[in-house]
Amino acid sequence: MIRFEHVNKRYPERGEALKDLSFELAAGEMAFLTGHSGAGKSTLLKLIGLIERPTRGQVVVDGRSIGDLPRRRIPFHRRRIGMIFQDHRLLNDRTVYDNVALPLAITGMPNRDIGRRVRAALDQVGLLAFERAHPVALSGGEQQRVGIARAIVGRPPIILADEPTGNLDPELASEIYDLFERFHEVGVTLMIATHDQERISRMAYRILRLHQGRLIADSGNW
Ligand code: ADP
Ligand code: ADP
Repeated sequence: MIRFEHVNKRYPERGEALKDLSFELAAGEMAFLTGHSGAGKSTLLKLIGLIERPTRGQVVVDGRSIGDLPRRRIPFHRRRIGMIFQDHRLLNDRTVYDNVALPLAITGMPNRDIGRRVRAALDQVGLLAFERAHPVALSGGEQQRVGIARAIVGRPPIILADEPTGNLDPELASEIYDLFERFHEVGVTLMIATHDQERISRMAYRILRLHQGRLIADSGNW
């Protein structure tokens, strides 16, 4: 589903953020990405989402090398990927419903279909009762669940999460990881960047560990 072949990423004047990175994530696999701050976790996820492009090497998603994808194809590529951020990036002047509807509204989907999808997504994260609320009225855990509903509303086969529970206490974080496991059970491919060593060693999934831009451990290959 996702394959990196000798990928390097260099930011101008910052040196290499990723160095000769190779790995493969199979369809339906769930993996954790870990490593110290600045190790390259966000950069790796951004390359998959085509927010950044590799300097060298190939990033292959769904059998297609995306490094040379024409600009006009990028929106279609991104629709296949649900992105979840630590700070959830919700629009505070819009309702929960509108925040979750946004990725579908920009595709020109009819409103009735949008309504059905948005409510299904809110139902999955347990927030159906909050569709008229504004994000600021919600707790941190609820806001993150709205961010997750927005990521899944288009039913993407791939979910990428960047420190999704970094601002949450352990109990709320557990709810988020329960959701990820449910997506995994229905066949979604997930990659979750996190510092939470205790949790990832407790949950028995593959762990990719970066150190200064290099892949130094991959439990899937042990
Ligand atoms: P992590 O997510 O593991 O904290 P990042 O991928 O954010 O690591 O960062 C890896 C390295 O790349 C760091 O040295 C960081 O400062 C640098 N970096 C990340 N994004 C940019 C950018 N947009 N421009 C320049 N340097 C960047
Ligand atoms: P994260 O750990 O989620 O990447 P950061 O605070 O490291 O968050 O980075 C926030 C934003 O700034 C990201 O988009 C990242 O790519 C960018 N960034 C990180 N380091 C640098 C840098 N040295 N120069 C320019 N942009 C950077």
